[in-house]
Amino acid sequence: MKGYEEGNRLRGFRCADCGLITATWGLACSRCGHPKLEETELATKGKVAAFTILTVPGDEFLNEAPYAYVVVDLDGGGRITGWMPAVRAESQLAIGDPVRYVTGYKPGVQFAKESETSRPG
Ligand SMILES: [Zn+2]
Repeated sequence: MKGYEEGNRLRGFRCADCGLITATWGLACSRCGHPKLEETELATKGKVAAFTILTVPGDEFLNEAPYAYVVVDLDGGGRITGWMPAVRAESQLAIGDPVRYVTGYKPGVQFAKESETSRPG
């Protein structure tokens, strides 16, 4: 199983029984316990549910710190974790801020503030 990201799309799963949308694959639905989860496409927009500023990066992000590690509630359902390289201090982001998934050459699921996605690159 790869990560969530697939080109400019995000993959997730939908319970065939109750319709729960989740970004996290499991052996069974976390809500109703149904054993069949189908792959589905997740929304690429959402709102920040939680975040923290990381100043000590993992190996992959060595040149990026500080950056924000974010938990995003996607518009269509599903909760996904990612990171925001443009956010370098807590004052630059708030719970509930609209964000969207952006493709990048860096590892992980990268988000940008909705208001900043028009910039080139
Ligand atoms: Zn279910």
